[in-house]
Amino acid sequence: MAGGDGAVAMMPHVLIVAGSDSSGGAGLVRDIETVSTLGLRSCLAVTAVTVQTHVAVEHVQLMPPELVATQMRAAFDANLVAAVKIGMLGTAAAIEAVGAVLASNRQVPVVLDPVLASTSGSSLLADDAIDALTRDLMPICRLVTPNLVELARLTGSAPAPDEEEAWRQADELSRTVRAVLVKGGHAQGTRCIDVLLQPNLPAVRFEAPRLPRGMRGTGCMLSSAVAASLALGASLEASVSRAKQYVFDALASSKDIEPKS
Ligand code: PLP
Repeated sequence: MAGGDGAVAMMPHVLIVAGSDSSGGAGLVRDIETVSTLGLRSCLAVTAVTVQTHVAVEHVQLMPPELVATQMRAAFDANLVAAVKIGMLGTAAAIEAVGAVLASNRQVPVVLDPVLASTSGSSLLADDAIDALTRDLMPICRLVTPNLVELARLTGSAPAPDEEEAWRQADELSRTVRAVLVKGGHAQGTRCIDVLLQPNLPAVRFEAPRLPRGMRGTGCMLSSAVAASLALGASLEASVSRAKQYVFDALASSKDIEPKS
């Protein structure tokens, strides 16, 4: 193992592969906060630097795919990486580079938040990269966490107008991945329902009251919280349940946060 501080290196780390967001609303800041709050250390592979306020993406600078891969390899060399969380990737070339590193570290659970666009609507993944995501990366992940908009794009469908169509899309996606957690944050109703689907297992529903708050970065927080719990040895179902509670608590205490452009 490389590095001078062996004691820190032996602590379980979550390797976060994601983009920065200068506003602090999403991306790496949220991921690191979450992993740290759940008692683990983070190590990083930065995929992109984004210049953002809470209402707009002003600039995106993608890191070269080989730089993303070398960051990942160094993080694996330096630390006991017990789980990986993947957020914004940007391009098919980055997806390929990340997939190649993960292929040599197959024992580590990977949670993929398929970030396609910012909450403010800007694209954060090239249109021609969806195929690479579904074909090369999703099958090696322990869990993929799309919201309803991402679920539709990943299955090449129109956004689901009703629960029946959302189920059909989720069922289609769950045939090619080990597990999919469909997030109901963009749906309607008084309860926010997320559904965990795994091939040959009954679906599991996770419910919480829907809070009248808009907060950026909740997808980043949820996926990082699942990765942190998996790193601590919890089962997938227990990890999702704990992550959902973590995001609910963060939303419930976020009333003082006023987005500012
Ligand atoms: N990663 C980055 C760098 C982002 O800027 C965003 C959204 O703005 C996301 C991820 C996705 O954020 P969310 O958790 O809201 O899906």
